[in-house]
Amino acid sequence: MTDYFEVHERDGAARLAELRLPESRETPALVDDVREDAGSLWAREREVPAGEESALTILPHRAFPGGTPDEVQEAFAVDYPDLDGPSAAVVSPETADDYGTDAYVLSNAQELAGHARAFVEGLIDTRESIPADAGLYLSGVATPANVSILAYAGVDLLDADHAVVKGTQGKYLTTDGERFLEDIEELPCSCPACQVPREEFGREDCAAHNEHALQTELRRVRRRIREGRLRDYVEGQARHEQWHTAVMRRLDQQYGHLEQRTPVVRQAELTAATDDTLNRVEIQRFAERVTTRYQNRFDNPLVLVPCSARKPYSESQSHGQFHDAIQFRAHTVSMTSPIGVVPQELELTYPAQHYDTVVTGEWTPTEREFVANVLEAYLDRNDYPRIVAHVPEGGYRDICERVEDSLGLDFEYTVVDHPTATESLSNLASTVSDALKYSKRERQHNTIRAVADYQFGEGAGDELFGEFRTGARYPKLRVNSNDGEQLAMLVAQYGVLSLTLAGARRWVDSDVPTKRIEIDGFVPHGSVLAPGVRDASPEIRPGDEVVIEGPKAFAIGRANMSGPAMVESSRGIASSVRHVTEQ
Ligand SMILES: [Zn+2]
Repeated sequence: MTDYFEVHERDGAARLAELRLPESRETPALVDDVREDAGSLWAREREVPAGEESALTILPHRAFPGGTPDEVQEAFAVDYPDLDGPSAAVVSPETADDYGTDAYVLSNAQELAGHARAFVEGLIDTRESIPADAGLYLSGVATPANVSILAYAGVDLLDADHAVVKGTQGKYLTTDGERFLEDIEELPCSCPACQVPREEFGREDCAAHNEHALQTELRRVRRRIREGRLRDYVEGQARHEQWHTAVMRRLDQQYGHLEQRTPVVRQAELTAATDDTLNRVEIQRFAERVTTRYQNRFDNPLVLVPCSARKPYSESQSHGQFHDAIQFRAHTVSMTSPIGVVPQELELTYPAQHYDTVVTGEWTPTEREFVANVLEAYLDRNDYPRIVAHVPEGGYRDICERVEDSLGLDFEYTVVDHPTATESLSNLASTVSDALKYSKRERQHNTIRAVADYQFGEGAGDELFGEFRTGARYPKLRVNSNDGEQLAMLVAQYGVLSLTLAGARRWVDSDVPTKRIEIDGFVPHGSVLAPGVRDASPEIRPGDEVVIEGPKAFAIGRANMSGPAMVESSRGIASSVRHVTEQ
């Protein structure tokens, strides 16, 4: 039960939370000034502190060096009393558990720092063993260079201990590393401590600067989490030290841990600047869903086209020209790094219209490998009468030829020089000219069904709505039942469906696995708070459509946290409520 810590926003494993003190503190933050350490029990017996509202009391503890056998740790386990005011228990990855405190201090944090694998494993073991809504405190490790990756990994509370010690040793810290004071000719910072002439700047000033630099970087980190864009920053920032890059990559390998915590839709744009972007949850998840859930429903030939800088693709000039040549005679799939392949029906679906990438025309070997694998998996699953590759020479063409070979298919190539060259476009037009055109109705229905497959699971596009009619204009399509009742609408901003109560009933009655929140006997309005959640499907991700059901109410809404987090949390908004009815 966390009484004094509340998570407000999540960005992957990172969180914006509040440590409730007389003057509340938004985290990730330093807590040196509000920390009361009751001390180690190794030195002597300690009195149980009374606790106070104005400080985070670290309960009497016994820390163990890494590798201490579990039975030894158990034999010396301490009791954690319940006290007034915020409290923290000291745990190791092995002893981490729910002790009823607001926060948990990872005892061997300093030992783990610098060792990417041990650090990531220790951190994730600890995070998964303590309640989802408790704060995680790493003491004595924070530097301006590493706080972004620490926050990205899920650390909430930090202190300036390490940075201050470095300062007193004459080491000047910045976000890109550390320098010996003697080697610095010009102070590169405008914090108050750095406002003295260089020759008067001593070690005490250096310690003060280091703490300022930490605070500044934490402000940036909090802003990034608020914007849903911490990952973009970490990909650049982690480059300055090898072990930070290693931590980011090790975290990417913990896909299950990160995926559960990463929203399925976001407003923020995603910046693709490095090969590491390909390993982001958002990218992997899109590729995984397109190659395991999506089903092509058109009978037309396939035309593979290059992506465009402008999103959604169909609004770009080049795709307008492709469209004029194709004239609804073919199904268009865009090839792109870092997304893989994007069928035309999913061009709005996050992150297909939410990424920005470096356009050099050159693809790295890792990008080629990724896009080729996705295209191969896609074509392995979806059959077409003909495949036309309207792609330029270079990366696109190489990928097509590789997949063609590997699957034993024959692609028809239509580009001469450039995809929008007159000759290329007329080749494209004549290549598909004998195919039948699909209707607007078919296009709209297939779009709704494809989005449903992507969002709710394989087969959902057919199972969920059965026969239906579409209303309004693309992209704000409405899904109506044959007797005119609205079931859902396409949210143009994210390319996902938002259900009505009637749509939610269809979901519950269908064979498509329902993401469900079970609540107590109340009628929720606006939102459901975590304490009101009795149970929740473990598959729920932040941003998912969720059915909310209890003895008195049936509702549809959008999840604010993962299913496991809803069940474990004692504070915070579990889900918003869009429509509700009493029952
Ligand atoms: Zn400074």
